[in-house]
Amino acid sequence: MQIVESGRIGDYERVVRAFDRESGLKAIVAIHNTRRGPALGGCRMWNYSNDADALEDALRLARGMTYKNALADLPFGGGKTVVIGDSIKDKNPALLKALGELVHFLEGAYTIAEDVGTTPEDMSVIHTVTPYVAGLSDGGSGDPSPATAWGVYCGIKSAVQERLDTGDLRGLSVAIQGLGNVGWHLARRLHEAGAKLFVSDIHNQRMREAEELFRATPIPAYRIYDAPVDVFAPCALGAIINDETLPRLKAKIVAGSANNQLAEHRHGDELKARNILYAPDYAINAGGVINISYEYSGTYDQEAAYRHVSGIGSTLSAIFKRARRLDISTNAAANHIAEDRFRALEAA
Ligand code: NAD
Repeated sequence: MQIVESGRIGDYERVVRAFDRESGLKAIVAIHNTRRGPALGGCRMWNYSNDADALEDALRLARGMTYKNALADLPFGGGKTVVIGDSIKDKNPALLKALGELVHFLEGAYTIAEDVGTTPEDMSVIHTVTPYVAGLSDGGSGDPSPATAWGVYCGIKSAVQERLDTGDLRGLSVAIQGLGNVGWHLARRLHEAGAKLFVSDIHNQRMREAEELFRATPIPAYRIYDAPVDVFAPCALGAIINDETLPRLKAKIVAGSANNQLAEHRHGDELKARNILYAPDYAINAGGVINISYEYSGTYDQEAAYRHVSGIGSTLSAIFKRARRLDISTNAAANHIAEDRFRALEAA
């Protein structure tokens, strides 16, 4: 296998490219910042149309993990792997083992985990080659979605306290977009807390089940933005807060698990201008990565992991407070706090 270290790229600590003719592996590992600890971040396998797009994605995602891990108060920095290829057609054990060798080459500076196009089973194959793997299918922390949903639930409570001045979810209305792995667990928790649910999914069966089990009201996917609710919880797609949807929102709070909810950073300012409290996505959806990180304490301790995930509530309170004090958007305040956390260590 050919492994090439790139020259310095911006404020990234290391960028490594690998090419393995035998297995067909073509991958990039970007390590953004390891001041808080070794980089931890998932591996995305995607059919990028060219190498430049793959590099751009690796850099963007690795930086995002530095911020996410810092805000989640984890002793980890940020990194990411992208594998160039079709995860259905091109993935095979030889490619995964070659990927394991690439991770091992970094001698623990980076720990790999699953992401789009990879699975806990893939991580177990990589683990036969290197110990620097999280989120294993066997003996690990398992499916991260219930932990993510727990974090989103704690985050919604914090946002409700901030915006509606109550700690009680009874009678509050929440619209959940997407009843997948996270959305479903979130719906169950909110229903148990007495919230009134409105749900949308492109799969009707899921909505029917939610109607039956959680007394949820199904609404067509395209109408979810117009729902007259207290909380809008996006748990499906990115970029759903945009110029088209913003004027339609009736919710007082946007708080859900979806990644990259704001189409552009400025949409955070526009939410603020409309007095809609936004729980920054990378702060509220960190439950999964927190849970995975607890594999490192030896035997995985679910109780300790979930206690840490509960802290998402207080992290969000700190973000809301900073945003209020500086009169800035909550997404800008979240970035400030994350930067404080990893830059303070740089200065030390
Ligand atoms: P998932 O694929 O299990 O669920 C997504 C659901 O959204 C599916 O049921 C799908 O049918 C539905 N959906 C798709 N398009 C829709 C639309 N237009 N309107 C309504 N519903 C639609 O994914 P997931 O694991 O539940 O993750 C949900 C979101 O949270 C994603 O953005 C993911 O990146 C993010 N996230 C997930 C985790 C995790 O632990 N799973 C962690 C952090 C962030």
